[in-house]
Amino acid sequence: MPASTQWHCLSSEETLRELKTSQKGLTSDEARKRLAVYGRNELEEKKKRTPLMMALDQFKDFLVIVLIIAAVIAGVVGKPTASLAILAIVILNAIIGFIQEYRAEEAMAALKRMAAPLATVVRDNVPVQVKAAELVPGDLVLLEAGQVVPADLRLVETANIQMDEAALTGESVPVEKHTKKLHDAHLPLGDRKNMAYLGTVVTYGRGSGVVVSTGMDTEMGTIATLLQEEEAAKTPLQQRFAVFGKRLAAAIFVICAIIFIAGLMRGEPVFLMLLTAISLAVAAIPEALPAVITITLAIGAKKLVKQNALIRRLPAVETLGSVTYICSDKTGTLTLNKMTVEEVYVDGRLAAAEELRGAPSSAVGVSFATLLTAMSLSNDVKADAGGSVIGDPTEVALFTLAEESGFAKAEMEKKYPRLAELPFDSDRKLMTTFHAWNDGKVVSFTKGAVEVVLEQTERILTPQGETPSIPSELLCVSEQMAADGLRVLGFGMRIWDSLPDDLSPAGVETGLTLIGLVGLMDPPRQEAQEAVAICRSAGITPVMITGDHPATALTIAKRVGIVTDGAETVMTGRDLEKLPQEAFEERVEHIRVYARVAPEQKLKIVRALQDRGQFVAMTGDGVNDAPALKRANIGVAMGITGTDVSKEASSMILLDDNFATIVKAVKEGRRIYDNILKFMKYSLTCNAGTVWAVFLAPFFGLPLPLLPLQILWMNLLCDSLPGLALTGEPAESNVMRRPPRRPDEGVFAQNRGLFIILFGLVIGVSVLLFQAYSMSAGLAWQTMVFTALVLGRMAAILAMRSENESLFTMGAFSNRSLLGAILLVVLLQMAVVYLPFLNGIFDTTPLTFHELALTLALSVVVFFAIEVEKVFKRRARPSFPVPDRPQSVPLNK
Ligand code: ATP
Repeated sequence: MPASTQWHCLSSEETLRELKTSQKGLTSDEARKRLAVYGRNELEEKKKRTPLMMALDQFKDFLVIVLIIAAVIAGVVGKPTASLAILAIVILNAIIGFIQEYRAEEAMAALKRMAAPLATVVRDNVPVQVKAAELVPGDLVLLEAGQVVPADLRLVETANIQMDEAALTGESVPVEKHTKKLHDAHLPLGDRKNMAYLGTVVTYGRGSGVVVSTGMDTEMGTIATLLQEEEAAKTPLQQRFAVFGKRLAAAIFVICAIIFIAGLMRGEPVFLMLLTAISLAVAAIPEALPAVITITLAIGAKKLVKQNALIRRLPAVETLGSVTYICSDKTGTLTLNKMTVEEVYVDGRLAAAEELRGAPSSAVGVSFATLLTAMSLSNDVKADAGGSVIGDPTEVALFTLAEESGFAKAEMEKKYPRLAELPFDSDRKLMTTFHAWNDGKVVSFTKGAVEVVLEQTERILTPQGETPSIPSELLCVSEQMAADGLRVLGFGMRIWDSLPDDLSPAGVETGLTLIGLVGLMDPPRQEAQEAVAICRSAGITPVMITGDHPATALTIAKRVGIVTDGAETVMTGRDLEKLPQEAFEERVEHIRVYARVAPEQKLKIVRALQDRGQFVAMTGDGVNDAPALKRANIGVAMGITGTDVSKEASSMILLDDNFATIVKAVKEGRRIYDNILKFMKYSLTCNAGTVWAVFLAPFFGLPLPLLPLQILWMNLLCDSLPGLALTGEPAESNVMRRPPRRPDEGVFAQNRGLFIILFGLVIGVSVLLFQAYSMSAGLAWQTMVFTALVLGRMAAILAMRSENESLFTMGAFSNRSLLGAILLVVLLQMAVVYLPFLNGIFDTTPLTFHELALTLALSVVVFFAIEVEKVFKRRARPSFPVPDRPQSVPLNK
């Protein structure tokens, strides 16, 4: 393929010929061969961090460098064992850090692979979905509204297609495209109206185009600056922690300096004091915490995929726990999006679809026959080679009834070929197609939201022909159908002498003759009812936002439990439009159902809720949902029915389009956040304990309780494996029975700061008293203190598994990996105490049974202290009032 070809100057046929392809697309074989020649359709990304870079990064920390220097000095001044031991610990620490970071990166890369865009192409003459990265020149790509163009294309078919090319040209007004050949080879990109470029967006209509270039050969590929990856954003917790971490580090430096100076004044050797101060700083400064947060979130995100929630932005995992409102679409999210036609109204008669289904075409009346014709023609579904029907579920239902009644789409289209169309969009809530009709005339069929069709209706079709008198019962019938939970569509038609020149909606979707009404049922999802109930008990308000009729919406909302009493109201898009923002904000917290809402109005709802201090998760699937998804605290896109644009604007994608998945994700988010806080609390409290002990020892007239190597060992052992296992803690039993966490809640809210200082002090002072006693009793005091601190940390971590619940009610075995980690720590510590080779390195002495028993006794002190604190907490805080579960309403009536 000549790279310099001016594709816009070729006709579509010439393009197809040049690229050795056709309207039938490439064969799979040919596509495979071309992929080998042209490479994958990917833009080169910023260089990834290699594992080696990641490993080296572990040694970049200032304190670690100081420690390495100290180790080298130790070697030089004749302490090779200490030197080697410190280096070994530093290396072990780095290995653990590297493994964790590598796992996090892998988890993120896997998520990214899953979110990779797909494209619909014609291969072997059938439309199939392939990864956009596997497109090759010559592929015929189908485009529809909401898609991001997957490669550079020469358009070969267009139906009112419009593109937003801002990503490429900076021009944000959508451009109307066509397929005609252009003649100026040097036209700027924005004027090449028969081309569609990678990264631009289809905002309206549909079409198809043949791939002319892929990957770095595309126009987007030539704009190098756009290829840089987004920098990973810091999560709110990391941001808050960054501020606190700096202050904490400064405080620890001061404390370590005091310890160093105090030691010197007491005549301790300079080098020992220097090493002690540095080791303490290394151990106490939680420099690994931001990384632990990322790792926990990344691993949490990986777990969420198994529950069908694909996270696109990591901070979402953390912020999910703060959600107070879930604004959800109805169709497909709260319902199954499996529509069937239940009722049909024609010729002044309402009939159950069952009565009509399968009736021979000769037996149906003229009006019903026209309705079935309209159902099959004004319809965009496609039947693939395997016989399955692809398309919008509303249309699939209409198609199915028409087929079963003998009005097969393929045959009808042969008889009445489509001449033009106005595609469906959620704002108009209408769709119109034009067809060649009998006697050389043209017919247009318009279908859509019943009241919109009725507004444009002037006549009605009857067995006797068209009459201008519209039966008064029509509105009541449609209201009743909607109140039964049906989606009601109106079908209108208009005969034209020829295809009108003005194909604008205002020009042609008017002066209609009503053919009839069709009621479709989309049953609520079984699990939605349960999920809504969980939301309520978790202090989250579920809200339905739908394009459907208010009566349909209200019925479904009642069935799933979103509306339980009269105080919760329904608002229509029209009323919403009329209300000024402030007046709307007054009411927004009372509304549970928004019906006949245009996607753009979702933004107003999010804004109002956010102004009322709510934290909003909002679902969306279409192009016009993107602004609301971006603005929402958590934008949630639909994995199955969602457009590329909505997915790119969101922070989470529901792989199963299911409302219940959002609720599961919120639960998981709360669990993960809780666990990060638990890890922080554990790590900071225990570090505070060690700092207190070393700092206060001189005030008790005691020598240094720990040696530098012992401090480093403890830090390595206790924070790594058990700490990580703590972040895998299962959700607390009340996790969805308490109000959402305030998004601005600090890390040290709920007395966490006080806890850390106080319990740190309990650990520090009890250890010093223990040291004083064992020194006076002539026991192996230093090994005892060292071991008591290690075992004490293990006891503390067990108690800190829950903020409120007692370990005894939680069950000691409910976090087995933590138990495993604790066992490992205990064994390693015993090795340090009892193996002669390690005794030499760590300056330990094997403990007698009596000494070990005393040590064990001390280490459980902190465990019981924390358990007692939880008893007080449980007494002080009554549990969150759980609202009554709504009366269970049968889902299907
Ligand atoms: P939700 O907002 O709950 O997801 P939805 O996305 O299905 O609902 P829209 O797609 O905006 O809502 O549809 C709004 C209205 O447009 C529907 O209630 C229906 O009356 C009408 N409608 C839906 N699909 C079509 C279609 N293919 N052709 C014509 N009219 C349609």
